[in-house]
Amino acid sequence: MSRSQSRTRRQAAFVEEAKRMYAELEDWYDEHPEASFGEIEAEARQRRRALMGKVLAQLVNGRDTGSQVELPKCKRCGDEMEFEGYREWRIHGLEGDTRLERAYYVCPDCEGETLFPPGSETEPGDGSLE
Ligand SMILES: [Zn+2]
Repeated sequence: MSRSQSRTRRQAAFVEEAKRMYAELEDWYDEHPEASFGEIEAEARQRRRALMGKVLAQLVNGRDTGSQVELPKCKRCGDEMEFEGYREWRIHGLEGDTRLERAYYVCPDCEGETLFPPGSETEPGDGSLE
């Protein structure tokens, strides 16, 4: 999954995804030349969901994953926490299913003391962690 990128790169990634989706629709229509408008629309809707899921992941993750330059302090003991890695979770949204990731910190001394840095409205809690 993508880490922080410039706005230009995020936009380029979006355009690539949109192009791919459109090319798939063209291929599908080639194979179903008799399709009704409703069938074409149903096909497009499915692909739109997939596209939007990717686009939203790009938009959110490409901007900020909650990774911090300075290690956050443990709320219980005040020591620096350790960066453990990125955790991924899925959000089944209105427009598409999105896989997001968030930096994850743990305190080496306090068992069970973990942190997803705040600052994003897409913190875990809106979706289920995996
Ligand atoms: Zn601690």
